[in-house]
Amino acid sequence: MPLDYTDDELVAINQALLPGGKGWDDDLVVGIRTKIKNYYLVGDFYQCCYCASIFNGVHRISIDVEHILPKGRFRSITFDELNVNVACKKCNLTSKGQKTDFVVDLVAMGTDYYRSEHYKFIHPNLDIYTDHLVIVTNRVGNKYLNKYVIKTQDKGAYTYNYFKLKDFEIDTFNRAQGISEKSVLSEKFSNYLRQSLLTVLSKL
Ligand SMILES: [Zn+2]
Repeated sequence: MPLDYTDDELVAINQALLPGGKGWDDDLVVGIRTKIKNYYLVGDFYQCCYCASIFNGVHRISIDVEHILPKGRFRSITFDELNVNVACKKCNLTSKGQKTDFVVDLVAMGTDYYRSEHYKFIHPNLDIYTDHLVIVTNRVGNKYLNKYVIKTQDKGAYTYNYFKLKDFEIDTFNRAQGISEKSVLSEKFSNYLRQSLLTVLSKL
């Protein structure tokens, strides 16, 4: 079901986007921001549109609505259904920020924003994530470990590198071990976990 705006909401959006309006931060669109977040936080669990991490135990209030083309530079599409999704703070703020280097060619794209081929990464609303990247989870005892399997060398590999998804694997490994500091013992343990995961992956 598409994110249908009511006539009143469209009026509010247009006003917020007028020169002098505060755009996304305008008080007129408080309810619309909530509506967008609700729209993308569906199902039994919520996940980041870039790293596909599940927001496990994260309160929805701390999850960011993400503008794929940054709203600071693409103000007119601030409320476009296809330009918004939800992302974790690491992907949204640290990896992506206000950058647009993931667009193949800004001039060629022009205002034709919603074509997959304009984007080097997996577009959250135009591409099917699992066509390009698959997360394989391996359970070792009561620990869960993730590994991204790159299925395509264009969008899959680009997304993996752009959002530094390797960090999520390492982070997951470290967290799964319940350690934050490195020690000889934990490195050995980590290698054991990695090796057991690779063994599982090699059988897929
Ligand atoms: Zn993320």
